[in-house]
Amino acid sequence: MGRTFHGLSFQPKYITVRLLKREWKTCGEMWAVLFLIVVLPVAMAQNLPGGNENPSASALFNKSEFSLDDPASLWVIVNKMRRLPAGYVPADLVVPHVRLQLSPKAERMHVRQVAAGPLQDLFAAAHQAGFNLELLSGYRSEAYQKKIYDKYVKKLKARAAIASAQPGYSEHQTGLAVDLDRNRDLRCLAMPCFAAMPEAKWLAEHAHEFGFIIRYEKDKESVTGYEYEPWHLRYVGKELATELFLNHQTMEEFFGIASMPKNAVAAIP
Ligand SMILES: [Zn+2]
Repeated sequence: MGRTFHGLSFQPKYITVRLLKREWKTCGEMWAVLFLIVVLPVAMAQNLPGGNENPSASALFNKSEFSLDDPASLWVIVNKMRRLPAGYVPADLVVPHVRLQLSPKAERMHVRQVAAGPLQDLFAAAHQAGFNLELLSGYRSEAYQKKIYDKYVKKLKARAAIASAQPGYSEHQTGLAVDLDRNRDLRCLAMPCFAAMPEAKWLAEHAHEFGFIIRYEKDKESVTGYEYEPWHLRYVGKELATELFLNHQTMEEFFGIASMPKNAVAAIP
């Protein structure tokens, strides 16, 4: 009885030890394979040029590559504190080959040459994704911006300050900003409801791939001084657009530039 008892008691333990040994051996082999196919290539890649690159390499980003002040610079910052030179008109305005809301003769259907190709690519990619966009407004002269601003003041009174730029302070005057909409659908034209449209979601996710940013972001009103404008895109080039997208920063935050007088938005009723 005793032997049987001991046999029953110890045999399973013996088996367990053998199993453990076998599993350990298998485990060891598994780790060796894992090391060869996963760990080693990653470790080697990190030693190769570019292998250790962080997609958001802010520390390596050359923030002085382009001027922030020159009105013709890709990175020019125009905001409530930073006015364009009086009467500034970009020298290379063209009509992009995209769906236009107005006749190609209209001033607003122009953009800077440098932004035209990327805008066409963005429209083509949106079309591939099932969305047909339309250009509502590209370049706006200072005189036209004055008309718009005066209209906003009449309609919105003090709130005009966060809905429209004053003449000379509009990004549209650079020829690098565009307002877009769903083609032939005016229901959410430059309205907050545009944010809920799949077109707006696609733009928010993909605009940077073409060098554009959503300039007046959600939850950045206190930084930009403007309401969320999911339809307003600004061309800054792929490199900066991607950097801003990954860091979820405005141009002002990224470059450490003031955008508006303190508490200006809080003062608006
Ligand atoms: Zn706009």
